[in-house]
Amino acid sequence: MKRLSIRDLPVQGKKILMRVDFNVPLDNDFNVTDPSRIVASLPSIQYLLENEASIILMSHLGQPHGSPNPELSLAPVAKVLGTLLEQKVIMAPDCVGQKVKDLVTALQPKEILLLENLRFHRAEESPGAKLLFAKELASFADFYVDDAFGCAHRKHSSITEVPKFFPNRSAAGFLLEKETSFLGDLLESPERPFYAIIGGAKISSKIGVIKALLHKVDAFLIGGGMAFTFLKAQGKEIGNSLYEADLVSFAKEIIEVAQTKGIPVLLPIDVVAARKMSDDAYPEIFSIEKGIPFERMGLDIGPETIEKFSQFLQAGKTVLWNGPLGVFEFTPFAKGTFSVAKILAALDGATIVGGGDLIAAINLSGVAKSMTHISTGGGATLEFIEHGSLPGLEALIANQNEDLPNINFMT
Ligand code: AMP
Repeated sequence: MKRLSIRDLPVQGKKILMRVDFNVPLDNDFNVTDPSRIVASLPSIQYLLENEASIILMSHLGQPHGSPNPELSLAPVAKVLGTLLEQKVIMAPDCVGQKVKDLVTALQPKEILLLENLRFHRAEESPGAKLLFAKELASFADFYVDDAFGCAHRKHSSITEVPKFFPNRSAAGFLLEKETSFLGDLLESPERPFYAIIGGAKISSKIGVIKALLHKVDAFLIGGGMAFTFLKAQGKEIGNSLYEADLVSFAKEIIEVAQTKGIPVLLPIDVVAARKMSDDAYPEIFSIEKGIPFERMGLDIGPETIEKFSQFLQAGKTVLWNGPLGVFEFTPFAKGTFSVAKILAALDGATIVGGGDLIAAINLSGVAKSMTHISTGGGATLEFIEHGSLPGLEALIANQNEDLPNINFMT
């Protein structure tokens, strides 16, 4: 069965319920500090405006755990979106309920209504058997569009349940299409050599993706907190560094399988370490051969590792990078991540970067524009690499041409 595209829907004069990922960072004054995710949704929104649809946008923001929290209101997003589009974005007081229904009923073609944070309702993350929340959301519109790539790995009401009420009337937006076709093509036929740089805090959150990539890449370059479990597996002294004792055998297995396949696994040969993780920490460089002293934590890859990674990467025709190589949030430990970002930016090959924290780091490093593709989804990218699909995509396919529950439309 085929998944529909937003282009396949006869949207003119219709109401479109579109799931977007507006989970953006806010500062203490509730200003949006990085509007990348809002900007990424513009092509679908502009397409719907040009085609004279009424647009109902829905998203989550942060973790309000099922109850309203004014600090996690989407109102600041409505402001930014309005500025970007140079038109008013109507902010709903909630995402369901009579007041919202009234706003939906009054919504005219080319108008935009942004529903309040979906996660103010427990049913968003725990759909329940009767799907009442999903059904109410679905009752607002004629068509459903999913453009929230960053959330497509979540089995939440707005992603996997709402489309059940739109048989043959739900479709993927431009961002979802772009992200998945890019990653799909990449994994099917990457230009080789294909290298994966994996960093971030823990191995535990990336086990599946590491296993999946083991069958696809020509080399692994490992940094970040997770490198220390690999180093421990090789019997190195890692001091107080982050380390997952229960995953040492997994790390050993990965190294062994990679060896039998002839896939190099490049681990740090030196690190920047400190007694504490802060901006005023005193950073020191230790070689892995000699070991990290007991009271120090390895918090970034060291200069020799940067050089080694740099030389190796020069041959890369495709480089996939997920997870920062150090605690870049603190200046003394940002150099590894920023340096590798610059190396990739100058590379004569495709560079694909993903993961929420890493995107922030790449933006800070000032080379974001030089990457071939920056994925808006961290977890979604990892799951797509691991499984080759996502629950959000499956939901769009599952209900095509099937006799599934329908609803009474308001329009
Ligand atoms: P992840 O979400 O797994 O990609 O992890 C991202 C986080 O990993 C960032 O917030 C980094 O600060 C953190 N990180 C990177 N390197 C290290 C390290 N050596 N030790 C502890 N945390 C790290």
